[in-house]
Amino acid sequence: MGQWYLFRCPKCSYETECSEGPDRGMYAAVDPMICKDCKEVHNVCVGEFSKNGDYKDLEKPECPSCEGNNLKDWVKQECPKCGDKMKRSNQSHILWD
Ligand SMILES: [Zn+2]
Ligand SMILES: [Zn+2]
Repeated sequence: MGQWYLFRCPKCSYETECSEGPDRGMYAAVDPMICKDCKEVHNVCVGEFSKNGDYKDLEKPECPSCEGNNLKDWVKQECPKCGDKMKRSNQSHILWD
């Protein structure tokens, strides 16, 4: 079960929905990362659980949007557009079954 939040940049109004940090679901682990090609924050799948429950890190996490590997950790919740700190809104929802 993971909880995703809406983050908004107060400066340029960029919005994204992602988890606040590394998150584990039933089948996959995600980590919010900045794609330097899309200039977006995405929840990127960084690992998977196999059917017997073994966890394995993905060697090359991919941007879910452009499938590129030009990713960096989303530190300090910086806006990928302008570098300001994004704010978490109170809206949240649960995406995993
Ligand atoms: Zn911004
Ligand atoms: Zn991308």
